[in-house]
Amino acid sequence: MADIAVCGAGIGGLCAAIALRASGHEVTVFEQARGFGRVGADINLTPNAVRALDGLGVGEALRETAARPVARISRTYDTGEETSRLPMAETAEEQYGAPQLTMHRADLMAALEQALPSEVLRLGHRLTGADQDETGVTCTFADGSTHRADLLIGADGIHSAVRTALLGPEHPTFTGVVAFRSVVPVDRLAGTRDLDSFTKWWGPDANTQIVTFPLNRGRDLFVFATIPQEGWHEESWTTPGTVEELRASYAGFHPDARALLEACDEVLKSALYVRDPLPEWSAGRVTLLGDACHPMMPFMAQGAGQAVEDAVVLSRALQAAPSVQESFTAYEKARRERTARIQISSRDNAWLKDSGTGDWVYGYDAWSVPV
Ligand code: FAD
Repeated sequence: MADIAVCGAGIGGLCAAIALRASGHEVTVFEQARGFGRVGADINLTPNAVRALDGLGVGEALRETAARPVARISRTYDTGEETSRLPMAETAEEQYGAPQLTMHRADLMAALEQALPSEVLRLGHRLTGADQDETGVTCTFADGSTHRADLLIGADGIHSAVRTALLGPEHPTFTGVVAFRSVVPVDRLAGTRDLDSFTKWWGPDANTQIVTFPLNRGRDLFVFATIPQEGWHEESWTTPGTVEELRASYAGFHPDARALLEACDEVLKSALYVRDPLPEWSAGRVTLLGDACHPMMPFMAQGAGQAVEDAVVLSRALQAAPSVQESFTAYEKARRERTARIQISSRDNAWLKDSGTGDWVYGYDAWSVPV
């Protein structure tokens, strides 16, 4: 069994720690933040992600706070015409072995954190360097401290320091699109349709959309809206925008869609960037998972799900293969094609616009795919 350092206590890093500890490894997770605040808004977990999380033993805790959308609906922005509908809830459970769950990101983080003993997590540790030799990896942190481990997993998100140490700096491309996020109590939306479903209003161009889905057991509605806009380049989960700009941006939308925006009090704003699939994720004793190696546009809601799947498959690969190199090769082989396909499809942004099936994404089982 190995002594494994995980950089980043996001969704992918915490899932990796749970899966690796269950396989008998010694794990320490280093996180730059000093605590877990209620940062972020939504997380949309499709059935593939929920099934992976169920296998980690956290599914019951998630179901206590999550909403379970009854359908996935597409509508035309101005007429409101329904162009596709996939039943979720019980139908997804029957088809894929798990439902779709939508929740506040902080509730998912709390469930994952509770599945780990507190001594596994080292908060306030920002990794600044990783040097490896034949016997291990030495991690260096901003406060000058170091930690030696057999292996290092970079689960440190979009701006990954581990990826930079492994592959050099990346050069993401601004899409010319910004995203707004807001959460609205549903009691302000009386009479509005689709409150129990995931609904996407498709605008006059592919990048102008409004997506809504329930959070907090249906007591809140999450609103996610994108629009082309030059001149705003900040990629952030915490930067505020203004509701006036949000409302003005969708003036041509159906009154039902605009009513959702009227109900928003506060909004976060972020620029959206694209990255190409990476040619490799591992070198020697270091590998990557989640947004660190395949950050994706949010249009298929797969960022968190793919990080969870990576964590499960990586832990299975480390169990199955006789050496670290063979494990990392097996992990990448099992995961690269799927995540690259989702990265590219998310960028194309036509997923389930018209009729179709979600099978190739939702039907994946990280616990049984060959590694
Ligand atoms: P992340 O979830 O980004 O986690 C990476 C972790 O690594 C973070 O905790 C970060 O602080 C830590 N880290 C980064 N660099 C270092 C370093 N050098 N040393 C140590 N630690 C480091 N997605 C949504 O769909 N909706 C949201 O509202 C939303 N809010 C988010 C809020 C925050 C604060 C973050 C970090 C992410 C948010 N996401 C949100 C993104 C979503 O959680 C991820 O896309 C997805 O879950 C992939 O997870 P990940 O574990 O690969 O990366």
